Amino acid sequence: MKLVRFLDEGKNKSGILEDKHITEISCPILEAFNESEKISQHGTLDINDVKLLPPVSPSKIVCVGLNYKDHAEELNMDLPDEPVIFIKPSTGVIGHLDSIIYPSSSNQVDYEAELAVVISKKTYQVKEEDADDYIGGYTIVNDVTARDLQQKDVQWTRAKSFDTFCPIGPSIETQLESKQEISLKLNGKVKQKSNTSNMIFSAQELVEFISNIMTLNPGDIISTGTPPGVGPMQVDDTVEVEVEGIGILKNYVKK
Ligand code: MG
Repeated sequence: MKLVRFLDEGKNKSGILEDKHITEISCPILEAFNESEKISQHGTLDINDVKLLPPVSPSKIVCVGLNYKDHAEELNMDLPDEPVIFIKPSTGVIGHLDSIIYPSSSNQVDYEAELAVVISKKTYQVKEEDADDYIGGYTIVNDVTARDLQQKDVQWTRAKSFDTFCPIGPSIETQLESKQEISLKLNGKVKQKSNTSNMIFSAQELVEFISNIMTLNPGDIISTGTPPGVGPMQVDDTVEVEVEGIGILKNYVKK
């Protein structure tokens, strides 16, 4: 099932996406994860008649640094023993078809295509084997990064945290198999292409690792790292991240 949030007649609503149609549901997405019997369906809308919103409003986005074997190979780096994590602020979140604003303090703003885990309930000290009970579904993140500032600063916070640097969407797929194609197109040309089976740490391992450090709240996001081929975007570019089984997250780059 694909869940979306959208704006219709000035109201923030939730729905189930099937092909190009959205069936409105009566409860917020976070309730739909945990109590599917609450889902009562209303009318159907055309996706082109509404504005899609980020599918959740996370309190934090926990990101994983190096998490693709083929990306480690590309960078000539050893595989990490444990995940390297950082946090993007909730204020960076934008939705499908929104614009990434290129900051004047950077000269290199990169895309990073990532599969993202959506947390369904309060998650603390959860074991890998129980992690699926805390995962509401999967979505897509573009971990936009001011690469020049990342290299300049010892900490990554500035480089990863500009407003609009965390596009999320378009939908949450509640049932996703573990092997999915992931790719990114810049102005229609393929720049990143891999498969989530190349991930070093699985979604479930990441839930265990991170929830032993901090409590994850309902709606929080774990962005699971990017495959090879990261590179720069320019003002007026169009960037599309596709994860098989979820959809395409499309954004524009503006000044
Ligand atoms: Mg990343």
